[in-house]
Amino acid sequence: YNHRLERTEKLKIISDLAASVAHEVRNPLQVTRGFLQLLSGKSDDKNKPFFDMATNELDRAATIITDFLTFAKPEMETVSLLNLSEEMSKIETMMTPLAAMHDTVLLFRSQTGLYCHGNSSKLKQAFINVIKNSLEATGSNGKIEVSATAENDEVVIRVKDNGEGMEEEQIAKLGVPFFSTKAKGTGLGLMVTFRIIEVMKGTIEFRSVKQQGTEAIIRFPLVTAAEEPDSLSGTGA
Ligand code: ADP
Ligand code: MG
Repeated sequence: YNHRLERTEKLKIISDLAASVAHEVRNPLQVTRGFLQLLSGKSDDKNKPFFDMATNELDRAATIITDFLTFAKPEMETVSLLNLSEEMSKIETMMTPLAAMHDTVLLFRSQTGLYCHGNSSKLKQAFINVIKNSLEATGSNGKIEVSATAENDEVVIRVKDNGEGMEEEQIAKLGVPFFSTKAKGTGLGLMVTFRIIEVMKGTIEFRSVKQQGTEAIIRFPLVTAAEEPDSLSGTGA
């Protein structure tokens, strides 16, 4: 009789728990933010900086939840055959309003009939973190192109931006927890993305030129629609 849990089991319990906590915490954060703004409007000018600080900190907490756990719904932790072409179009729908807010053109081109094994909500989380980074890296005339194609036995997804780009040392630190060059960054986004892609038996690499832009290249094993996703089951992907 063995009391010890396997590492993957432990990770799954932690991630399930964290996801439920995130879900529960988001609403009170939102409510508190609303009341703070209300009070700020009724208070002396000398107190305004404190209300601003409090609101900023609440926003920071919300960002951590977004980078970490937006789509990590524990009840949907199933691994299934994913129609990547459809998943991509859902991601496009979700990200288009945010891109418009950033004055950035977001262009999706996806081959139809691309399949891989994974968890739909986790896959969304992984790509949203990458695309959010591209949005945050672009200035005026921002452009982000996302493409999904089959290449040999792989699905290849490229996310290419014309943003600020990265230095060599910066690229080397991607995915390290809390590595961020942003004033309001969490440094958790890519850590989460890397982990999700790893569990899906995929890879991610970055190519970047300072002042020109960055391309993230994500590869997953291509599967045909008939294959069963048994090789991944139980990993909590
Ligand atoms: P955060 O976005 O909170 O800073 P991430 O883990 O998402 O944390 O990203 C870590 C760092 O990687 C960013 O702070 C930034 O320096 C760099 N980075 C990631 N993607 C890009 C990109 N497309 N263009 C430029 N820099 C990027
Ligand atoms: Mg990020």
